[in-house]
Amino acid sequence: MPSMTPEQARRSRRDMLQATVDAVAVCTGTDPEAFFRADGEQYIVWQARRADAVRVCAGCPARAACEELALRDGDGRPDVDDMVRGGLTGPDLAATRDQQSDRLTAAVAADRDTEGRRLDDLTAQLQRAAVKNPDKTGGHRGASRAQAAQNEQVRYLADQIRSIRTARRGPRRMEDRSMTGDHTPLPVNEEIGPRRPGAIYQNVDGRFEVLALITDPGEAARLLRRDGARWAVIVRDTLRPDGQPFAVGSVWTTSDYLIRPARTAFAPAA
Ligand code: SF4
Repeated sequence: MPSMTPEQARRSRRDMLQATVDAVAVCTGTDPEAFFRADGEQYIVWQARRADAVRVCAGCPARAACEELALRDGDGRPDVDDMVRGGLTGPDLAATRDQQSDRLTAAVAADRDTEGRRLDDLTAQLQRAAVKNPDKTGGHRGASRAQAAQNEQVRYLADQIRSIRTARRGPRRMEDRSMTGDHTPLPVNEEIGPRRPGAIYQNVDGRFEVLALITDPGEAARLLRRDGARWAVIVRDTLRPDGQPFAVGSVWTTSDYLIRPARTAFAPAA
């Protein structure tokens, strides 16, 4: 897949931008920490590493697509110099996003519309295919063939849905369970989804950075003012720089999607 110009990147939908990064990024397989300032790292050390990261990005054929994804993802803050993505530092990304905020808001909305419509369409097709009665007019052999064709179509549609959801990096979702009548509570890890400290996710309410994960049920119940709460995440809305952090206890669903993964893996309590 060839690289994109900045103009092409601005006009592309998210799946095309991600496909370009996946296909030609020069940092694939390298340590992602090369693009982040470590906790407590001396500024002078980070300055040198940051310059190296910017140099790597400058030679990357995915740079325009990567920068556009970073801008749509809301990466970077004006006052925090701790990352490089798409060849830009966090403050550079924040300044560029400010300059292009109207265009980026429209691009993010279009990305969501496109992906959401495709998922809705595939889900409707899957439901129709799953309940369709196979044609039995061709005798036993004909009915077997019709049944096999129907199974194949259901598998194909399910694979399509799964690949879109996987691209959104979500875990097993509530909708999948409700379709199968499974109402047992999800394990805590699955309810939380990928919301670990440092992760950024988005839904119709905003774009949120996870500041802390609370897995003590008593503390979670106190924060959420809800008896029976098993966990809570403390988030801040990255689209409202003046907003105060607050606690969230809603289950991760297909309405949420991950924009930036957490920088450290979650280690469940023993
Ligand atoms: S521009 Fe930089 S961060 Fe983005 S894919 Fe290329 S090397 Fe990686």
